[in-house]
Amino acid sequence: MAAAEALSEIGYLLRQDEKERFRAKAFSAAGWSIALQKPDLEALHKAGRLTSIEGVGEGIARVLAGLIETGESRYLNRLREQMKQPARDDESELDFADYRGDIHSHSRWSDGRATMLEMAEGAQAIGYEYLGITDHSPRITVVHGLDAERLVAQSREMAEVQKAVDVKLLQGIEVDILEDGSLDLPDAVLEILDIVIASPHVKLRQDPAAMTERMLRAVSHPHVDVIGHPTGRRPGSREGATYDFEAVFKEAARHSVALEIDCDPARMDLSPEMARLAYEYGCTFAIDADAHAPAEFAYVPMGLWMARRAGIPRERILNFRALDELTMALEK
Ligand SMILES: [Zn+2]
Ligand SMILES: [Zn+2]
Repeated sequence: MAAAEALSEIGYLLRQDEKERFRAKAFSAAGWSIALQKPDLEALHKAGRLTSIEGVGEGIARVLAGLIETGESRYLNRLREQMKQPARDDESELDFADYRGDIHSHSRWSDGRATMLEMAEGAQAIGYEYLGITDHSPRITVVHGLDAERLVAQSREMAEVQKAVDVKLLQGIEVDILEDGSLDLPDAVLEILDIVIASPHVKLRQDPAAMTERMLRAVSHPHVDVIGHPTGRRPGSREGATYDFEAVFKEAARHSVALEIDCDPARMDLSPEMARLAYEYGCTFAIDADAHAPAEFAYVPMGLWMARRAGIPRERILNFRALDELTMALEK
């Protein structure tokens, strides 16, 4: 998993450079394939067969060999330096073994590719204590977002699925932050859900002043627990929204609204730099895969380095809390 993490970090760092787009993709894909297939790297290295791993060519095999022999990659260290990543000695101790559960995932109820039962079984197989099912709100019609009525139907299915698994299921929503900062579902609906993740999905290019107002309104909403992928960026293809990050992060801290580190390689949002800033303003965090299928839960171990890089201690991360502490934090 450490090797997968290192490759995915290399992919991420390369992605910041338009010219390295293809190499970035290759590294991310190789990391992804290792995270999923968990090949015996030592044995393959000994046999000189690292390139037999799907997505691993000569260049990536050399990086892997370095990782296997020395536990680190000179290439990665050099990239980190070039990209002026937060200092290494800021890194905190965050181990995936202590990660208790993911609170942002999707099912077939909106745009997920698996049923709720399949997602729950996937989470259980990794040993999660809890899983938040947070499908989309109605505004995102293309993905069949959920209104109040469908949420009620979903909660019935959740009660059934819960009987079949040990992992505790939490019903939530990933509600859209509308252009004026209001939310895409009425308070009465948000109030009954276990988790409310408010995310910006559209109109990310609003002017910074309007965007600041929009985000400030969302973080001070009484039912919001988490701001999902707070900038909406897609590294290498779409810059995220620009707003007064200091003002919004401080307000989030004041309202105990967590900021998400979305581990989906297409998002990686917040970035380590932004997460560091938010940490300094007192914010808490949720580190999630935003999985649309069980295999995507593997984004979390691959993405944890972002929080380590930002030097965020475990106490500030919701997913390292036991279920009762988590539900206490989400009680609003
Ligand atoms: Zn989203
Ligand atoms: Zn999502």
